Amino acid sequence: MTALEPVIGLEIHVQLATETKMFCGCRLSFGDEPNSHICPVCLGHPGVLPNVNEQAIVYALMIGEALGCEIAERSTFHRKNYFYPDLPKGYQISQYDHPIAVDGRLGDVRVHRAHLEEDAAKLSHKGASGRIHGSGASVVDFNRGGTPLVEIVSEPDIRSAAQAREWAQLLRATLASLGVSDCNMEEGSLRVDGNVSLRPAGSDELGTKTELKNMNSFRFLERGIEAEIERQRELIESGQEVEQETLHFHPDDGSLTPMRSKEYAHDYRYFPEPDLVPVVPTAEMREAARAALPELPAARKERYLTELDLPEATAASLAFQPELGGFFEDALAANSDATPRAIANWVTGDLVAALREQDLGEDPYRSKAEPREIAALAAMVEGKQVSHSAGKQILAKLAAEGGTAAGVVESEGLAQISDDSEIDAMIDAAIESEPEAADQVRSGNEKAIGRIVGAAMKNSQGRIDGGLAREKILERLG
Ligand code: ADP
Ligand code: ZN
Ligand code: MG
Repeated sequence: MTALEPVIGLEIHVQLATETKMFCGCRLSFGDEPNSHICPVCLGHPGVLPNVNEQAIVYALMIGEALGCEIAERSTFHRKNYFYPDLPKGYQISQYDHPIAVDGRLGDVRVHRAHLEEDAAKLSHKGASGRIHGSGASVVDFNRGGTPLVEIVSEPDIRSAAQAREWAQLLRATLASLGVSDCNMEEGSLRVDGNVSLRPAGSDELGTKTELKNMNSFRFLERGIEAEIERQRELIESGQEVEQETLHFHPDDGSLTPMRSKEYAHDYRYFPEPDLVPVVPTAEMREAARAALPELPAARKERYLTELDLPEATAASLAFQPELGGFFEDALAANSDATPRAIANWVTGDLVAALREQDLGEDPYRSKAEPREIAALAAMVEGKQVSHSAGKQILAKLAAEGGTAAGVVESEGLAQISDDSEIDAMIDAAIESEPEAADQVRSGNEKAIGRIVGAAMKNSQGRIDGGLAREKILERLG
């Protein structure tokens, strides 16, 4: 049997961080009192008229430009009809055959389109123990209804679950750099759905796909897609067929259950929204969107590689994780004597480890360490004022308690010993404490020197430089 190849395309919904909703003046509000930001327009009362939010258009233009899309000179809205309690009008206003942006690319994945639409309201399902009615019920919070969304649709260019996660991370970093959305997957301001199919490796045809929803972190996105690839592989290898359907991912056990068999476009009875005029961005608006683009993550990674000489993986994690990258930039801006590479290593290595240890997520600004103190620490280690292992202690202390690197060196007595006679005395003591190893080194076995260096480091509590200790020991033992 020929090997099977996964084919994956992503659909990403981004809630725009505008002041107000897509078609009315209600404020956006996450976590406010339910149904406190509602009006006749977003509740779909009869006789009201929608009004397009200009800020949402500006943000959509920026997204289109950042993804290298062609911007439509004229894009239009349709009504997408379906009946569900989260949609009081009975239809969602969405762009259909003339989206605002098409044919882009981000990294190695083509972008099919990006279009504007409005979010549905939020449904909560209370169990039998829920306070509502006692016997279980579903309740609707219309605050979210009408929130501006941009939906980004990739081409099916992705070939593995890991690549899907990496691309989604690059996309999130790109959107975050634009400042157009909070991009918070847990809170649902960034929602990534996966489309997955398999085909014989080398084939150009597409197999039947399923759509995966509710993967509200990058880890879950990768796990959900991985599980679906395996499920389809087993079906196909045992001679069964994949059914086109939508599957719901369960974070607690990683399982996938069918939500509904997939609708087709004609089920939605799309027709043009008669209450809205087409969106025709002026040349000035398009130029302004281009001018508003910051350095994008893909370009930032390139700069880290070529100008700062960072290793590939370090450059990627700093460029694609906005909080980490921002912290690194702030540390660089502190103008310490440290090389960018050294600062980058402390940030992506020990600082990230400290965050994990303290359960602070991925945002280094939530730790107590100041960017300039991490830069100062990096400079001290590079300048051999403290040893590398002392550097690790200093970082842990800065992350947990704050303060300055110099202060920690002082209070913990971590400064390198610079007095030559003191160093010599420690070297002599180390050689004396490891007579066997010393003999082996004398008779030409250089490997045995490690034990003596170790003893010197231990006696000095890491306050002499390992390289220097090694040199001096070799000198003594001929
Ligand atoms: P639908 O009509 O079901 O919404 P689309 O053609 O609009 O399907 O594509 C939706 C998403 O699914 C896109 O990201 C696209 O790249 C992806 N996709 C389409 N066909 C396949 C397939 N056979 N396998 C994997 N992904 C696919
Ligand atoms: Zn409203
Ligand atoms: Mg579609």
